[in-house]
Amino acid sequence: MNIQLRTQKIPVGISQCAVGDPVRFNGGHKHSKVCTQLLAQCFELHPYCPEVAIGLGVPRPPIHLIVSDRLRAVGRDDGTLDVTDALEEYADRIAPEVQHLRGFILMQKSPSCGLRTTPHFKADGPDALGHGAGLFAARLRERFPHLPLEEVGRLNASDIRENFLTRVFAYDAWHRYVAPDPRPARVIEFYTAYKYLLMAHHQQMTRELGQFAANTRAMEPQQFAYEVRGRIMEILAHPASRKERTNALMHIQGHLKAFLSNEERSELAQLIEDYRLGLKPLSAALTMLRHYLPRSPHHFIHSQVLLAAEPAEMGLCEFR
Ligand code: SF4
Repeated sequence: MNIQLRTQKIPVGISQCAVGDPVRFNGGHKHSKVCTQLLAQCFELHPYCPEVAIGLGVPRPPIHLIVSDRLRAVGRDDGTLDVTDALEEYADRIAPEVQHLRGFILMQKSPSCGLRTTPHFKADGPDALGHGAGLFAARLRERFPHLPLEEVGRLNASDIRENFLTRVFAYDAWHRYVAPDPRPARVIEFYTAYKYLLMAHHQQMTRELGQFAANTRAMEPQQFAYEVRGRIMEILAHPASRKERTNALMHIQGHLKAFLSNEERSELAQLIEDYRLGLKPLSAALTMLRHYLPRSPHHFIHSQVLLAAEPAEMGLCEFR
């Protein structure tokens, strides 16, 4: 399985105020240029505003989340306004559309869209008991537990942006390569192609996934595919470290070394070491590995997604 990035843009949902539409409670927006100018180069952005969609209008009375019998979305100034059910029902209603999305970018701190930064207030006072998800985002996560989600503000950081891109690319690839034919053999092929990229994110979890995947008869094929996809997305959610990436590069180097001269071997080893020390970018090591790749007759190594164009090489990680 040689997994290619899709040539058309990947469909990704986004909180509507982040694309610059004036849908906030006060008639404003929270335009994110990182989303509309940078990420829109490879994402087809589908905007959603849950609060407008449930009929609150613009401008509208602000709502916030209170911890009551359960988490409730109520009017900040008018406690009789309760849109808890409406927000959750909206997320359920658009689920068939979300099925076709490969990621969702959510506005931080919002009682509807926030993913982990929304204040959850005491029912009887102004103090926040903690922070968590807004009601729309929580329902989205519940219905689509493997869908890559991220907050708009966090995407300003290049490492978080890179991680989100990697997750969206993987989720999209799964839907193109495995979802139409989720036989265990296909699932294993997909895992195999992702193996070294996964190792760059979390070695131990990748090893555990390898052991799990070796026992394909332990469960029903659909359940097996679901479990493997969940584990892949969980591993990719860990940030890739320089140390673990170096380790993955060295594994690939190990597969190629039989086809290299002594001089080529030491040049490649030096380049990987320079990457480990932060003296050379990842792209330098990847470019050299790709250069030597055609010498190997082994499909396993040719199929490695780690060797495909990474987000930084696509110019999607730097934005000024
Ligand atoms: S955060 Fe969500 S609900 Fe609030 S304005 Fe933006 S899209 Fe609408």
